[in-house]
Amino acid sequence: METLILDGKYQASCYEDEFRAEVANLKARANNATPVLATILVGADPSSATYVRMKGEACRRIGMDSRKIEMSEQTTTEELLATIDELNADENVHGILLQHPVPAQIDERACFDRIALEKDVDGVTCLGFGRMAMGESAYGSATPAGIMRLLEKYKLELSGLHAVVVGRSPILGKPMALMLLNANCTVTICHSRTKDLERHIREADLVVGAVGIPEFIKADWIKDGAIVVDAGYHTGGVGDIELAPLNGRVKALTPVPGGVGPMTINTLIAQTLTAGTKAIK
Ligand code: NAP
Repeated sequence: METLILDGKYQASCYEDEFRAEVANLKARANNATPVLATILVGADPSSATYVRMKGEACRRIGMDSRKIEMSEQTTTEELLATIDELNADENVHGILLQHPVPAQIDERACFDRIALEKDVDGVTCLGFGRMAMGESAYGSATPAGIMRLLEKYKLELSGLHAVVVGRSPILGKPMALMLLNANCTVTICHSRTKDLERHIREADLVVGAVGIPEFIKADWIKDGAIVVDAGYHTGGVGDIELAPLNGRVKALTPVPGGVGPMTINTLIAQTLTAGTKAIK
Protein backbone atom coordinates (compact mmCIF):
# COMPACT_ATOMS: atom_id res chain seq x y z
CA MET A 1 0.00 0.00 0.00
CA GLU A 2 1.32 3.42 -0.89
CA THR A 3 1.25 5.61 2.20
CA LEU A 4 0.09 9.18 1.77
CA ILE A 5 2.48 11.49 3.62
CA LEU A 6 0.53 14.30 5.26
CA ASP A 7 3.07 17.01 4.59
CA GLY A 8 2.32 19.74 7.13
CA LYS A 9 5.39 21.73 6.23
CA TYR A 10 4.36 21.99 2.59
CA GLN A 11 0.69 22.70 3.33
CA ALA A 12 1.61 25.36 5.90
CA SER A 13 3.81 27.12 3.36
CA CYS A 14 0.95 27.06 0.78
CA TYR A 15 -1.41 28.52 3.39
CA GLU A 16 1.16 31.22 4.18
CA ASP A 17 1.10 32.33 0.53
CA GLU A 18 -2.69 32.73 0.78
CA PHE A 19 -2.47 34.54 4.12
CA ARG A 20 0.19 36.95 2.81
CA ALA A 21 -2.19 38.02 0.04
CA GLU A 22 -5.07 38.38 2.54
CA VAL A 23 -2.98 40.57 4.86
CA ALA A 24 -1.89 42.74 1.91
CA ASN A 25 -5.54 43.19 0.87
CA LEU A 26 -6.57 44.03 4.40
CA LYS A 27 -3.78 46.61 4.73
CA ALA A 28 -4.72 48.15 1.40
CA ARG A 29 -8.33 48.70 2.40
CA ALA A 30 -7.75 49.52 6.09
CA ASN A 31 -5.18 52.31 5.97
CA ASN A 32 -2.24 49.94 6.50
CA ALA A 33 -3.74 48.41 9.67
CA THR A 34 -2.50 44.90 10.31
CA PRO A 35 -3.51 42.08 12.68
CA VAL A 36 -1.31 41.91 15.78
CA LEU A 37 -0.56 38.81 17.88
CA ALA A 38 0.65 39.46 21.43
CA THR A 39 2.84 36.65 22.74
CA ILE A 40 3.46 36.27 26.47
CA LEU A 41 6.50 34.30 27.61
CA VAL A 42 6.88 33.81 31.37
CA GLY A 43 10.30 32.63 32.53
CA ALA A 44 13.34 31.56 30.56
CA ASP A 45 12.59 28.02 29.36
CA PRO A 46 14.64 27.71 26.14
CA SER A 47 12.07 25.55 24.27
CA SER A 48 9.26 27.95 25.12
CA ALA A 49 11.42 30.88 24.01
CA THR A 50 12.05 29.12 20.70
CA TYR A 51 8.33 28.40 20.16
CA VAL A 52 7.45 32.04 20.87
CA ARG A 53 10.15 33.25 18.49
CA MET A 54 8.88 30.89 15.75
CA LYS A 55 5.33 32.20 16.21
CA GLY A 56 6.51 35.81 15.92
CA GLU A 57 8.50 34.96 12.79
CA ALA A 58 5.47 33.24 11.22
CA CYS A 59 3.44 36.44 11.78
CA ARG A 60 6.13 38.54 10.10
CA ARG A 61 6.42 36.16 7.13
CA ILE A 62 2.82 36.88 6.18
CA GLY A 63 2.99 40.62 6.93
CA MET A 64 1.29 40.63 10.35
CA ASP A 65 2.86 42.10 13.48
CA SER A 66 3.57 40.45 16.80
CA ARG A 67 4.19 42.07 20.16
CA LYS A 68 6.47 40.14 22.47
CA ILE A 69 5.87 40.36 26.22
CA GLU A 70 8.47 38.72 28.42
CA MET A 71 7.88 38.28 32.15
CA SER A 72 10.20 37.01 34.85
CA GLU A 73 10.27 33.49 36.29
CA GLN A 74 8.93 34.98 39.57
CA THR A 75 5.77 36.44 38.01
CA THR A 76 2.63 35.95 40.11
CA THR A 77 -0.81 34.96 38.90
CA GLU A 78 -2.07 38.49 39.69
CA GLU A 79 0.68 40.10 37.62
CA LEU A 80 0.00 37.84 34.68
CA LEU A 81 -3.75 38.42 34.93
CA ALA A 82 -3.12 42.18 34.92
CA THR A 83 -1.01 41.88 31.76
CA ILE A 84 -3.73 39.84 30.06
CA ASP A 85 -6.32 42.46 31.11
CA GLU A 86 -4.24 45.17 29.46
CA LEU A 87 -3.95 43.18 26.24
CA ASN A 88 -7.68 42.38 26.28
CA ALA A 89 -8.39 46.12 26.50
CA ASP A 90 -5.88 47.11 23.82
CA GLU A 91 -7.74 47.53 20.53
CA ASN A 92 -4.46 47.26 18.61
CA VAL A 93 -4.01 43.66 19.79
CA HIS A 94 -6.16 41.06 18.01
CA GLY A 95 -4.83 37.77 19.34
CA ILE A 96 -3.17 36.70 22.60
CA LEU A 97 -0.88 33.72 23.00
CA LEU A 98 0.17 32.71 26.51
CA GLN A 99 3.01 30.23 26.01
CA HIS A 100 2.43 26.97 27.91
CA PRO A 101 3.76 25.92 30.40
CA VAL A 102 4.03 28.81 32.84
CA PRO A 103 6.07 28.54 36.09
CA ALA A 104 4.46 26.36 38.78
CA GLN A 105 3.41 29.21 41.13
CA ILE A 106 1.04 30.58 38.46
CA ASP A 107 -2.56 29.41 38.10
CA GLU A 108 -2.32 28.67 34.38
CA ARG A 109 -5.99 27.80 33.97
CA ALA A 110 -7.10 31.12 35.52
CA CYS A 111 -4.72 33.00 33.21
CA PHE A 112 -5.84 31.13 30.09
CA ASP A 113 -9.46 31.79 30.98
CA ARG A 114 -8.82 35.52 31.41
CA ILE A 115 -8.08 35.82 27.67
CA ALA A 116 -11.04 37.46 25.92
CA LEU A 117 -12.86 34.93 23.74
CA GLU A 118 -12.46 37.06 20.60
CA LYS A 119 -8.66 37.18 21.18
CA ASP A 120 -8.28 33.49 22.15
CA VAL A 121 -6.56 32.61 18.88
CA ASP A 122 -4.68 29.68 20.47
CA GLY A 123 -7.97 28.15 21.63
CA VAL A 124 -7.08 27.73 25.30
CA THR A 125 -10.10 29.07 27.19
CA CYS A 126 -12.76 26.86 28.79
CA LEU A 127 -15.40 28.95 27.07
CA GLY A 128 -13.82 28.44 23.65
CA PHE A 129 -13.44 24.71 24.34
CA GLY A 130 -17.08 24.43 25.37
CA ARG A 131 -18.27 26.30 22.29
CA MET A 132 -16.08 24.15 20.03
CA ALA A 133 -17.39 20.99 21.73
CA MET A 134 -20.97 22.12 21.11
CA GLY A 135 -20.21 22.80 17.45
CA GLU A 136 -20.53 26.58 17.93
CA SER A 137 -18.01 28.97 16.41
CA ALA A 138 -14.77 29.34 18.40
CA TYR A 139 -11.06 29.31 17.67
CA GLY A 140 -9.89 25.72 18.15
CA SER A 141 -6.92 24.69 20.21
CA ALA A 142 -4.10 25.21 17.71
CA THR A 143 -2.54 21.74 17.58
CA PRO A 144 -5.72 19.66 17.17
CA ALA A 145 -7.27 22.31 14.93
CA GLY A 146 -4.10 22.17 12.81
CA ILE A 147 -4.42 18.39 12.61
CA MET A 148 -8.04 18.71 11.45
CA ARG A 149 -7.03 21.27 8.80
CA LEU A 150 -4.30 18.90 7.57
CA LEU A 151 -6.69 15.93 7.36
CA GLU A 152 -9.20 18.11 5.49
CA LYS A 153 -6.54 19.40 3.10
CA TYR A 154 -5.85 15.81 2.01
CA LYS A 155 -9.61 15.15 1.76
CA LEU A 156 -9.45 12.14 4.05
CA GLU A 157 -12.93 10.81 4.76
CA LEU A 158 -13.32 10.72 8.54
CA SER A 159 -17.02 10.05 8.98
CA GLY A 160 -17.66 6.68 10.63
CA LEU A 161 -14.01 5.95 11.42
CA HIS A 162 -13.03 4.62 14.81
CA ALA A 163 -10.51 7.17 16.09
CA VAL A 164 -8.29 6.39 19.06
CA VAL A 165 -6.68 9.42 20.69
CA VAL A 166 -3.85 8.59 23.09
CA GLY A 167 -3.57 11.51 25.52
CA ARG A 168 -6.19 13.73 27.16
CA SER A 169 -4.40 17.00 27.88
CA PRO A 170 -6.52 20.17 27.79
CA ILE A 171 -4.64 21.63 24.81
CA LEU A 172 -4.28 18.50 22.74
CA GLY A 173 -5.88 15.12 23.45
CA LYS A 174 -9.20 16.32 24.82
CA PRO A 175 -10.02 18.93 22.13
CA MET A 176 -8.70 16.51 19.48
CA ALA A 177 -11.21 13.89 20.59
CA LEU A 178 -14.09 16.38 20.47
CA MET A 179 -13.08 17.67 17.03
CA LEU A 180 -12.98 14.11 15.68
CA LEU A 181 -16.36 13.40 17.28
CA ASN A 182 -17.75 16.52 15.59
CA ALA A 183 -16.36 15.11 12.32
CA ASN A 184 -18.50 11.99 12.94
CA CYS A 185 -15.76 9.66 14.11
CA THR A 186 -16.45 7.15 16.87
CA VAL A 187 -13.86 8.18 19.43
CA THR A 188 -11.94 6.33 22.12
CA ILE A 189 -9.75 8.45 24.45
CA CYS A 190 -6.83 6.65 26.09
CA HIS A 191 -4.60 7.91 28.90
CA SER A 192 -2.14 6.75 31.52
CA ARG A 193 -4.76 4.69 33.39
CA THR A 194 -6.11 2.94 30.29
CA LYS A 195 -6.01 -0.83 30.58
CA ASP A 196 -4.71 -2.77 27.59
CA LEU A 197 -3.85 0.27 25.47
CA GLU A 198 -2.50 -1.94 22.71
CA ARG A 199 -5.91 -3.61 22.22
CA HIS A 200 -7.62 -0.22 21.76
CA ILE A 201 -5.01 0.94 19.25
CA ARG A 202 -5.28 -2.30 17.26
CA GLU A 203 -8.96 -1.46 16.63
CA ALA A 204 -8.29 2.08 15.40
CA ASP A 205 -8.93 3.30 11.86
CA LEU A 206 -7.28 6.57 12.91
CA VAL A 207 -4.69 6.88 15.68
CA VAL A 208 -3.55 10.15 17.24
CA GLY A 209 -0.41 9.95 19.37
CA ALA A 210 -0.34 12.76 21.95
CA VAL A 211 1.48 11.09 24.83
CA GLY A 212 4.77 12.93 25.20
CA ILE A 213 6.95 9.79 25.28
CA PRO A 214 9.30 9.11 22.33
CA GLU A 215 8.00 6.33 20.04
CA PHE A 216 5.77 5.05 22.83
CA ILE A 217 3.13 3.71 20.42
CA LYS A 218 4.61 0.75 18.57
CA ALA A 219 4.16 0.27 14.83
CA ASP A 220 2.92 -3.30 15.20
CA TRP A 221 -0.03 -2.13 17.37
CA ILE A 222 -1.40 -0.20 14.39
CA LYS A 223 -3.53 -1.98 11.81
CA ASP A 224 -2.85 -1.94 8.08
CA GLY A 225 -4.60 0.88 6.25
CA ALA A 226 -5.02 3.14 9.30
CA ILE A 227 -4.52 6.91 9.31
CA VAL A 228 -1.69 7.80 11.70
CA VAL A 229 -1.26 11.25 13.26
CA ASP A 230 1.78 11.83 15.44
CA ALA A 231 1.53 15.03 17.50
CA GLY A 232 4.69 14.32 19.46
CA TYR A 233 8.05 15.90 18.95
CA HIS A 234 11.25 14.94 20.73
CA THR A 235 14.93 15.68 20.26
CA GLY A 236 16.38 13.50 17.56
CA GLY A 237 13.38 14.12 15.32
CA VAL A 238 11.08 11.39 16.64
CA GLY A 239 7.47 11.62 17.70
CA ASP A 240 5.21 9.62 20.01
CA ILE A 241 4.67 6.84 17.44
CA GLU A 242 7.17 4.43 15.90
CA LEU A 243 6.60 5.71 12.37
CA ALA A 244 9.33 4.22 10.15
CA PRO A 245 7.88 0.67 9.85
CA LEU A 246 4.44 2.10 9.02
CA ASN A 247 5.47 3.63 5.70
CA GLY A 248 4.01 1.35 3.03
CA ARG A 249 1.55 -0.30 5.44
CA VAL A 250 -0.84 2.47 6.50
CA LYS A 251 -3.15 4.72 4.46
CA ALA A 252 -1.62 8.00 5.62
CA LEU A 253 0.79 9.35 8.20
CA THR A 254 2.14 12.64 9.49
CA PRO A 255 5.95 12.73 9.38
CA VAL A 256 8.04 13.94 12.33
CA PRO A 257 9.28 16.58 11.87
CA GLY A 258 7.25 18.37 9.20
CA GLY A 259 3.76 17.06 9.96
CA VAL A 260 1.76 18.39 12.89
CA GLY A 261 4.24 21.03 14.16
CA PRO A 262 4.09 23.44 11.19
CA MET A 263 0.29 23.14 11.10
CA THR A 264 0.07 24.18 14.75
CA ILE A 265 1.83 27.49 14.13
CA ASN A 266 -0.05 27.92 10.89
CA THR A 267 -3.37 27.53 12.70
CA LEU A 268 -2.37 30.12 15.29
CA ILE A 269 -1.60 32.66 12.57
CA ALA A 270 -4.72 31.70 10.58
CA GLN A 271 -6.86 32.34 13.64
CA THR A 272 -5.03 35.61 14.39
CA LEU A 273 -5.66 36.75 10.84
CA THR A 274 -9.36 35.93 11.21
CA ALA A 275 -9.55 37.78 14.56
CA GLY A 276 -7.67 40.78 13.16
CA THR A 277 -9.81 40.91 10.03
CA LYS A 278 -12.99 40.89 12.13
CA ALA A 279 -11.72 43.65 14.42
CA ILE A 280 -10.20 45.89 11.72
CA LYS A 281 -13.03 45.37 9.17
P1 NAP B 1 0.80 16.12 28.37
O1 NAP B 1 0.05 17.29 28.88
O2 NAP B 1 2.00 15.62 29.11
O3 NAP B 1 -0.25 14.91 28.23
C1 NAP B 1 0.18 13.62 27.91
C2 NAP B 1 -1.01 12.70 27.88
O4 NAP B 1 -0.52 11.39 27.62
C3 NAP B 1 -1.78 12.65 29.20
O5 NAP B 1 -3.16 12.70 28.98
C4 NAP B 1 -1.35 11.31 29.80
O6 NAP B 1 -2.37 10.67 30.56
C5 NAP B 1 -1.07 10.49 28.57
N1 NAP B 1 -0.13 9.43 28.89
C6 NAP B 1 1.04 9.54 29.56
N2 NAP B 1 1.61 8.32 29.71
C7 NAP B 1 0.76 7.45 29.13
C8 NAP B 1 0.79 6.04 28.98
N3 NAP B 1 1.77 5.29 29.48
N4 NAP B 1 -0.23 5.45 28.33
C9 NAP B 1 -1.26 6.18 27.83
N5 NAP B 1 -1.33 7.52 27.94
C10 NAP B 1 -0.33 8.15 28.60
O7 NAP B 1 1.29 16.35 26.88
P2 NAP B 1 0.67 17.26 25.70
O8 NAP B 1 0.94 18.69 25.96
O9 NAP B 1 -0.71 16.82 25.37
O10 NAP B 1 1.65 16.81 24.52
C11 NAP B 1 1.67 15.49 24.01
C12 NAP B 1 2.72 15.39 22.92
O11 NAP B 1 2.42 16.31 21.89
C13 NAP B 1 4.14 15.75 23.36
O12 NAP B 1 5.04 14.89 22.66
C14 NAP B 1 4.32 17.17 22.94
O13 NAP B 1 5.67 17.49 22.65
C15 NAP B 1 3.50 17.20 21.68
N6 NAP B 1 2.97 18.52 21.34
C16 NAP B 1 3.21 18.95 20.08
C17 NAP B 1 2.72 20.17 19.68
C18 NAP B 1 2.98 20.60 18.29
O14 NAP B 1 2.78 21.75 17.95
N7 NAP B 1 3.43 19.71 17.43
C19 NAP B 1 1.98 20.97 20.55
C20 NAP B 1 1.71 20.49 21.83
C21 NAP B 1 2.22 19.25 22.21
P3 NAP B 1 -2.96 11.27 31.94
O15 NAP B 1 -3.90 12.35 31.54
O16 NAP B 1 -3.63 10.10 32.56
O17 NAP B 1 -1.78 11.77 32.73
